Amino acid sequence: MGGVDYLIIVFFFGLATAIIGKSKGSSFFVWFLVGAVLPILGLFAVIFYRREKDEPERLCPRCTKPLKLYVQVCPRCGEDLYLPDPAAVRHPGVR
Ligand SMILES: [Zn+2]
Repeated sequence: MGGVDYLIIVFFFGLATAIIGKSKGSSFFVWFLVGAVLPILGLFAVIFYRREKDEPERLCPRCTKPLKLYVQVCPRCGEDLYLPDPAAVRHPGVR
């Protein structure tokens, strides 16, 4: 495999990574660099990358601190949290 082939592969990995990153609301350019420098790792990174603000939230039933759904113990008051009433779940990324 010659150097030109490698550059083409790096370019397409960078492009694919950047398109996925952009679709998740992140920077096209930053993800292009990540995908080009780490061709396979970068692609996995962007696939598993989550937009933190799109995570659904609910309020702690004891102290009403807003918490992500995956939080199991409230960091403020120590309340054990179970899956909430779906009506109490907020989706901050959805308008
Ligand atoms: Zn709490």
